[in-house]
Amino acid sequence: MPTICVYCASSSNIPDRYLDLAAAVGAGIAARGWQLVSGGGSVSMMGAVARAVRAAGGHTIGVIPRALVELEVADHDADELIITDDMRARKGLMDERADAFLALPGGIGTLEELMEVWTARCLGMHDKPVVGLDPWGDFALLREQVRHWEQQGFVGAAAVAELSWTTEVEQALDLIAAELATAVHQPGSRGGM
Ligand code: AMP
Repeated sequence: MPTICVYCASSSNIPDRYLDLAAAVGAGIAARGWQLVSGGGSVSMMGAVARAVRAAGGHTIGVIPRALVELEVADHDADELIITDDMRARKGLMDERADAFLALPGGIGTLEELMEVWTARCLGMHDKPVVGLDPWGDFALLREQVRHWEQQGFVGAAAVAELSWTTEVEQALDLIAAELATAVHQPGSRGGM
């Protein structure tokens, strides 16, 4: 059963449409019989995606550093809540458990997580799908920045192509499904990066 790692906002100061998007992604993941691994937060889009997976009968894995548990933002309803000593251990575990990575709109935490798995894929450290779901252009400036780097020669076209962008939930999940079907990496094999 494939496990999808979702990166998304932890801020509560965002319009409701983002929470609806996160819920639709969660429902879509469960509908395909997939599992969720995420940063283990109960707040904002993070909480919305995990609750929606569970509401549709799916399994959720939260991986959260001890310091954030102490801030009382952990998703205690997760089917598995794994508490790590620090952020690095947390990210390593999320990467290891995931068969694919899906970034939704978010802030700097989401950006950092997306950049890390995209870079690792470009370097051949893993071959798991990396997809961005961006219905409202929240990543438009980042994509413009990447185009600039590509024009200047800092980033190659092949690297740009390692991250797929979509605007629709089902399209994002279809992209992941298609890549998983042909990937060398076998879902559930627990391969690390
Ligand atoms: P941001 O985009 O800055 O809101 O950060 C969200 C991302 O960073 C998520 O995908 C999480 O993995 C991680 N993160 C940030 N804040 C929290 C939190 N309170 N609880 C759990 N994970 C968090």
